[in-house]
Amino acid sequence: MPPHKPPAPVVAIDGPSGAGKSTVARAVARAMGLLYLDTGALYRAIGWKAGETGTDPADAAAMAALCARVSVTLQADGAGGNRVLVDGEDVTDRIRTQAVAALASAVSAQPCVRRALLDLQRGMGRHGGVILDGRDIGTVVFPDADVKIFLDADPAERARRRYDELVAKGQAADFQQILAEVNARDHADRTRPIAPLIQAPDARVVDTTAMSADEVIARICAMIRNG
Ligand code: C5P
Repeated sequence: MPPHKPPAPVVAIDGPSGAGKSTVARAVARAMGLLYLDTGALYRAIGWKAGETGTDPADAAAMAALCARVSVTLQADGAGGNRVLVDGEDVTDRIRTQAVAALASAVSAQPCVRRALLDLQRGMGRHGGVILDGRDIGTVVFPDADVKIFLDADPAERARRRYDELVAKGQAADFQQILAEVNARDHADRTRPIAPLIQAPDARVVDTTAMSADEVIARICAMIRNG
């Protein structure tokens, strides 16, 4: 009997920042006809809002109040990616800074934030046919996902990719500083008390350190096809 392949699978891709999750998930979504959901963008949206309103990410009561009134929406952008709206305002490009990444990591440790975004993510993926990338998709958001992948790479390689990305955009970049930020964010994401970044016991690890994006995409498409 060939392996059973669900018609509308839920595919979970977790791993640390810079492992290539979003690039790979977007390409796999296109190749396999799935909807891509960038869950990090949701945390970035809340982090951005905290920054804009001067809300301290460590203040649980203030963050609960922010979560109760903010509206975050993720939309397919028609090109395989997502657009992110906060209270109807398109913040897609504004959330892609290191400052917002650090805010996202800080707000993501608040239980009220995780609870609010959990419902949103489950709602978006309830009909299947989706590929989500994040930190806790296979462990918390969709523990019964049909395919679970943990995408990893050496911290120095992840910092190098980020450095190359910034240089390609003509932005100033300091490798040592980027490496320090990668390590700090890894530490915060792995050691927070709720929904820390850990590998689900049934996730398959793909170490992308020495792989090209195309190789990773092909491997994951094969995993989805073969169930
Ligand atoms: O993936 P990205 O770098 O955009 O994620 C930003 C931050 O959001 C991460 O450092 C992490 O703290 C948080 N995050 C999370 N759970 C997810 C996705 C992202 O805690 N599912």
